Amino acid sequence: MSRKRTTCPYCGVGCGIAAVSTGRRNIIVKGDTAHPANFGRLCSKGTHLGETTGLEGRLLYPEISDERVNWDEAIALVAERFSSTIAEYGPDSVAFYVSGQLLTEDYYVANKLMKGFIGSGNIDTNSRLCMASAVAAHNRAFGEDIVPCSYSDLEKADLILLVGSNTAWCHPVIWQRIEKARQERGTKLVVIDPRRTETAECADLHIALKPDGDIVLFNALLAEMRARGKIDETYLAAHVTSPESFWERLTGGPADAGIDEDAFIALADLASAVPKMVTLFSQGANQSACGTDKGNAIINLHLATGRIGKPGAGPFSITGQPNAMGGREVGGLASTLACHMGFSDEERAVAQDFWKSPGIAPGPGLKAVDMFRAVHEGRIKALWIMATNPAVSMPDAGFVREALNRCDFVVLSDVIAKTDTAAYADVKLPALAWAEKDGMVTNSERVMSRQRALLAPPGEARPDWKIVADVAWAMGHGEAFDFAGPADVFREYCAQTTCHNNGRRLLDLGQWAAMSDADYAEWQPQSWGGASPFAAGRYSTPDSKARLVAVAPPETAAADKDYPLRLNTGRYRDQWHTMTRTGLSPRLSRHRGEPLVEIHPADAAARDLADGDLARIATPNGESIFRVLVTDSQRPGEIFAPMHWTDQMSGGGRTGRLTDSRVDAVSGQPAFKDCAAEIERV
Ligand code: SF4
Repeated sequence: MSRKRTTCPYCGVGCGIAAVSTGRRNIIVKGDTAHPANFGRLCSKGTHLGETTGLEGRLLYPEISDERVNWDEAIALVAERFSSTIAEYGPDSVAFYVSGQLLTEDYYVANKLMKGFIGSGNIDTNSRLCMASAVAAHNRAFGEDIVPCSYSDLEKADLILLVGSNTAWCHPVIWQRIEKARQERGTKLVVIDPRRTETAECADLHIALKPDGDIVLFNALLAEMRARGKIDETYLAAHVTSPESFWERLTGGPADAGIDEDAFIALADLASAVPKMVTLFSQGANQSACGTDKGNAIINLHLATGRIGKPGAGPFSITGQPNAMGGREVGGLASTLACHMGFSDEERAVAQDFWKSPGIAPGPGLKAVDMFRAVHEGRIKALWIMATNPAVSMPDAGFVREALNRCDFVVLSDVIAKTDTAAYADVKLPALAWAEKDGMVTNSERVMSRQRALLAPPGEARPDWKIVADVAWAMGHGEAFDFAGPADVFREYCAQTTCHNNGRRLLDLGQWAAMSDADYAEWQPQSWGGASPFAAGRYSTPDSKARLVAVAPPETAAADKDYPLRLNTGRYRDQWHTMTRTGLSPRLSRHRGEPLVEIHPADAAARDLADGDLARIATPNGESIFRVLVTDSQRPGEIFAPMHWTDQMSGGGRTGRLTDSRVDAVSGQPAFKDCAAEIERV
């Protein structure tokens, strides 16, 4: 029996797990009572992790064209094809599409190879689909991608606004902490969401705004707070700069957000009554064509009222994946060079000097949607996908499949043998899964925790960082990728965070750059940046002041007579992404065993639809069949469908084929929450 403290591989809450391996690939999972994210709590997904560690469906050996080969052959082919493509077409003809499931060490090595040694910015992560708009909003407001809060702020706040978050289902342990705070100290809860979700059902106030009504709502709320004398002029003068005519540009009223005056006044009354307010925002805010502006509208409210950098106050982006934060810290997004550095000449020189690399990416690479567009157009000719399933999870997944089909050379490193994406891979490389690999993850509150191996590597699977390093060696970059293990990689990453530090940026992990292997092995969860990184009122901008950003609501799209409904998408409580892991647990499938389309009774009646009917959702991108759930939790004119089902499963529910690839112009994050659609009975 082996006992270890590890971290849940699902959502960005990053719960600690006390795991016991019984020696037969069985793991007994309990919440880690000492972990600051969860203090022993787990949700249904984490609790049933032990049911998902079998070898059923695993990719265990390298394959070329679906034939088993040895590692040397596979690595040699990947290195040769990437090298020859770069030699003929240049560095930007290749790309990596990676994942928030990767550990920090995996991310670091992949980013180093692409941006430092291949010399292209073309590495992007599926975190682009999750929180890229929050990253962009942080950068605009704070000068750095910093989350200003910690979970403990939820227990100190008097008022919590949840924006675009079905927290009770999607971040259940945060929800448990919120509920406990409400019971113990009477914290008020407002949910701002077009749907009356399970979370909204429990709120003191539900603001059922129209899709993308967030900007006008938060602008109106800020104007109302000003009218009520709630602006913190002292904080503004000392710590914030405002663009010209900022206050005059706060136009629009609650009706423009699709809500009535009474609900708005109730919200303003709550926000005026107490200074300790946390606004938690998630995919409903981020997955939008105006997601970055939504983030800044929320941050503006906190900056202008001085509700940031203090206990129980701040705008708080929560992420979907366990290491979405670690990936963005090392440079896993195409828009960042490394360690929160951008692509200025100075920053590029710093990174190149640190890596001692032959070149450096000249600028940002292609973000996820643009990356697959470039694959489709033949501009990217070799693509390496790591730990993700874009043939299902990208918007307009039918287009993505066409792109993969056209691509000259597709490599997939993954733990599952037959994903929808695997069907397009020329080379498949078996990677270690949760409970088999060692490394670091950063959760939504900047706490870095260890995932630890409890199980022996199955078949010939290897850690992702090692696979990338082996390819780098075979491409001729050997010494720079001579890592003895994940601790070695982590130390190098920590050292790199110190190189860029010009006295402004907060990401500085230098204290761990010389950590011993033993200390790495014994690592206890700890935060970087402290519980409240902006407590001193200093931001990472040249003048150390935060920025108010003037944001305007988006233009309302003209109604489409063929697709008059708006399709919103999201998660189920007990499933995760494309169900490659949670689908292995029979108990998790009991909650909702099939994909349902939720529709308002008036829209259902107009289409002669009843509960339990099968109906086809059609959008300009594709169509798929769902079972109907008629519910007044939907606003009229809007439908909702889950994101999890894939072509690998029988039946319908292919939401990925329906969504379109409109993106936020700043962040490149797709607008998964709002797509023109129609539905009909089949
Ligand atoms: Fe895992 Fe998230 Fe559930 Fe915690 S809340 S147990 S991190 S899925």
